[in-house]
Amino acid sequence: MLKHATSLLLITSILLSACSAQNQSASDAKDTKDDTAVILSEKTKEATPRTEPQIENKNTDSVIHSETDIDTTGKKPEVPSTDTTSSEVPIKKTYHMNSSYVIKPNDESTPAKVVLLTFDDGPKDEKMINSLMDTLDKHHAKAIFFVNGNRVKRQPKLLKMIHDRDQIIGNHAWDHEDLQKMSSSEAKKQVTDVQQIVKDIIGEKPQFFRPPFGSGNEALKDAVKEEGMLYMTWSNGSLDWDKSTKNRPDKVIQNVLDQLHPGSNILMHELPWTVDALDELLTLLEKKGYSFVDPRAIELQSR
Ligand SMILES: [Zn+2]
Repeated sequence: MLKHATSLLLITSILLSACSAQNQSASDAKDTKDDTAVILSEKTKEATPRTEPQIENKNTDSVIHSETDIDTTGKKPEVPSTDTTSSEVPIKKTYHMNSSYVIKPNDESTPAKVVLLTFDDGPKDEKMINSLMDTLDKHHAKAIFFVNGNRVKRQPKLLKMIHDRDQIIGNHAWDHEDLQKMSSSEAKKQVTDVQQIVKDIIGEKPQFFRPPFGSGNEALKDAVKEEGMLYMTWSNGSLDWDKSTKNRPDKVIQNVLDQLHPGSNILMHELPWTVDALDELLTLLEKKGYSFVDPRAIELQSR
């Protein structure tokens, strides 16, 4: 009898303590502030370098920027259309681009050791784009995909795919041609036609423009500005388009590291060896204390 009573008491006390533990954890949860809100504040508050990095001659690119055409051979699974527009929280503009196309923090509390990741000349191939985006996601990185209008027209669903996965679309002109060799009205049309087709597909126009071969002039810059876009070439060429780098992911990585500087505006392309290089490249950049600037945090006017 006594034994029975003791065990009853024991059970009751266990139940009671379990209950109070539950209450305790519930009130703990209430009191806990949202720690996840604190992100990105890096310890890297290095002074910005006094000397600007050397920028490649804009015109040299025209010689070696060959188009490696990697169009797919049809037959691709349907991309499910997601009509849900992502809840857009405006991102604070904490960076700007200088006249050398380098990304600079707006104040000292913002890390200077960042790189801007960009991929030009797509969209070409669903597998390559998805692999790039998988790697970007793994590193919590955003990039600009500078697209050509004629490619978008051929494979609009690839553009939608990039947008749906929350990466950023940039305008790389309709055709991959030297805009400086066109009349200013032709060049302008190369810009505005891409704005239109992108708007038609994803509902918004690009905010970033990069001319093919980095080749442009004042008239082109004006046309780009009229569209409210930020004009850029790059400050760190991965040379992934160059013959010397073909099938050499290790060289893509080395080329970027050789030219690395705070605010590097890194030019890459939708190419198989760049796809293969990306994960290791991003890992090495992180090890060196770099983070990846969200393009949407960059002001749309250079200064
Ligand atoms: Zn290009």
